Amino acid sequence: MFETLSDRLTSVFSSLRAKGRLSDADIDATCREIRIALLEADVALPVVKDFVAHVKERARGVEVSQALNPAQQVVKIVNDELIDILGGETRRLRYAKTPPTVLMLAGLQGSGKTTLAGKLARWLREQGHVPLLVACDLQRPNAVQQLSVMAERAEVAVFAPEPGNGVGDPVEVARRSVEHAKRQQHDVVIIDTAGRLGIDQELMRQAADIRDAVSPDEVLFVVDAMIGQDAVTTAQAFMTGVGFDGVVLTKLDGDARGGAALSVRHVTGRPIMFASTGEKLEDFDAFHPDRMAGRILD
Ligand code: GDP
Repeated sequence: MFETLSDRLTSVFSSLRAKGRLSDADIDATCREIRIALLEADVALPVVKDFVAHVKERARGVEVSQALNPAQQVVKIVNDELIDILGGETRRLRYAKTPPTVLMLAGLQGSGKTTLAGKLARWLREQGHVPLLVACDLQRPNAVQQLSVMAERAEVAVFAPEPGNGVGDPVEVARRSVEHAKRQQHDVVIIDTAGRLGIDQELMRQAADIRDAVSPDEVLFVVDAMIGQDAVTTAQAFMTGVGFDGVVLTKLDGDARGGAALSVRHVTGRPIMFASTGEKLEDFDAFHPDRMAGRILD
């Protein structure tokens, strides 16, 4: 993960190792390298600019320290900046005071939404919750079937359209699923919505209608980290069209550059809450900004 970014930053730091203290010229040169490293990692330009400006400011204010050499000081500054840009603290799920908690997933087709629904359900079940997976992706052939398979693998129940469950109308399916969850004592409802290959107004409207019908406690925007900076454009479109509370980054296992991970929080102002790192249901966890920063600087 993030091989080139890690390598680049490591070589930036090693060039500082021989220095006794940092001159302004050293800081400028270092920041130039960091800028290139981030741009090469496909981080969005406004994010790069802010990042470098903060590093520069912090580096200039650094006291000559007995404990840390200049390279270590810069590593620490970059590490702290990475944690900040990735969101600081882990943002945990907010559960409803009165169950069920309703989580709605939104994102493009292929982003890994259905897989994520299964992962999230399994993760919640392991923590003692009784989730219900709801199939509101009625666009893609097989999506309902795929979600049912996920539910089986995650060992949770699924609510799918059928006579009486609002056949063909995702808004109705969503509404009924929440009533069903109350009756059947499910404390978390996970609604999988339709995704298209590109951003599309009808898709946005449908997602917004589902949101209005069930007032989710959290809308989670699911995005494939491998699309790099394009994740930012997609996120902005979903922000305007549907709105969301948190981000789930998928396919981080295949993301060699880190552009999406480093850009999306800064650009949308919404925290990355979960990360998916593979095709198996276990390849999933809460997103920890400090661990991710550590991995980039490893
Ligand atoms: P959806 O169209 O958004 O519902 O996407 P799917 O859940 O069907 O996922 C699309 C493809 O991505 C499938 O082949 C998944 O197995 C794969 N996938 C999903 N999440 C991950 C992940 O975190 N890592 C990898 N490598 N593949 C993933």
